[in-house]
Amino acid sequence: KNGLPPTISDIDPSRLTVTHSSSSKDIPLSDDLVFGQVMTDHMLYMTYEPTHGWSAPEIKPYGPLSLDPASSCFQYCPNVFEGMKAYLGPDGTPRLFRPQLNMARMMRSADRVALPHFDTDALLVLIKKLITIDARWIPKARGCSLYIRPTIIGTRAALGVAASTHATLYVIMSPTGPYFKVPSGISLYAVSEHVRAWPGGTGGYKLGLNYAPGFQPQRTAMQKGYQQVLWLLGETITEAGAMNFFVVLKRDDGDLDIVTPPLDGTILPGVTRASVLSLLAAHPVATSLPNLSNGVRLHTHERAITMSELVGWHAGGRLLEVFCVGTAVVVTAVSRIGWEEREIALPEYGGKGIGPVARALWERLVDIQEGRVEWQGWSVPC
Ligand code: PMP
Repeated sequence: KNGLPPTISDIDPSRLTVTHSSSSKDIPLSDDLVFGQVMTDHMLYMTYEPTHGWSAPEIKPYGPLSLDPASSCFQYCPNVFEGMKAYLGPDGTPRLFRPQLNMARMMRSADRVALPHFDTDALLVLIKKLITIDARWIPKARGCSLYIRPTIIGTRAALGVAASTHATLYVIMSPTGPYFKVPSGISLYAVSEHVRAWPGGTGGYKLGLNYAPGFQPQRTAMQKGYQQVLWLLGETITEAGAMNFFVVLKRDDGDLDIVTPPLDGTILPGVTRASVLSLLAAHPVATSLPNLSNGVRLHTHERAITMSELVGWHAGGRLLEVFCVGTAVVVTAVSRIGWEEREIALPEYGGKGIGPVARALWERLVDIQEGRVEWQGWSVPC
């Protein structure tokens, strides 16, 4: 059903073998968690080769891979990945947040670089099993979770420029606290001389090759005193770092416009972005969101935003909030944006650094993710 020839094995959870680690690593304290530094005890691993398809999946102790140096992943980068999180619910059950969306996106990414297809439901069954085995690694503190990194790399061991006939799929996991350790919002530096994505390019897919070209601009942004790059295409805002971008504008009638760039192929279709849009559609009146009690209506728009517009809204006192969303951060406020020689400083909200819309969305999303609020089956027990 996934386009694999009928003679080729798809991922088959019934063939899973589990080898438990003989030693258990020490788990860092929640306060010491730095994103993505420490990996759990186990990983999920399987390979694909063209005559048989996917191998029997293995859950085995976390450890190095052994790869032919000519493997295409080192040369032409047919590499895709996903980022998702497991949370411990109040009932002690590990939960995933809308994981089918990550699986579907991973399949689209794999297809984009001609990696083999796979049964997304079967992979999810195996990821749940891996989480259950390493459940002691899920941090309990609010805002902490277990970050999960499913990955597929092309392993064709030959130098010809061609699609990878072979692949390795693995899933590793890392306990994580808040992504940014700044309470007062992050700073962005708008960059236009380097472009992350363009029409017809690969920005809409989660490919490893989209990220390395951002490292040098990211270093420049940090040298200028900003935390993340705000990616532009010409003057049009696309994304910020590895996050989707939102603005909150005051309207003449007192309502709020909430605007985010459209999915035109130049930005990643974020799971958090989709969730924010659907929460806002379900709660169009501010009274039904915590901390917004004045009954204003929230009007959401998916439309292009230019830097000149942003400067104009700011100068006219209409720009109330800028925030970024993604699995790692959930929702983070933006405190200032540098562009050319200008600086756009956002309201500070009494030193709290996060405005009411961003705060309400963060609280609601974390409550759903951690299983305190049930909402449309988004939180999926393992
Ligand atoms: N944009 C980019 C470039 C990203 O890498 C991510 C992280 N996956 C996002 C946006 C946010 O997507 P999501 O909400 O699915 O994590």
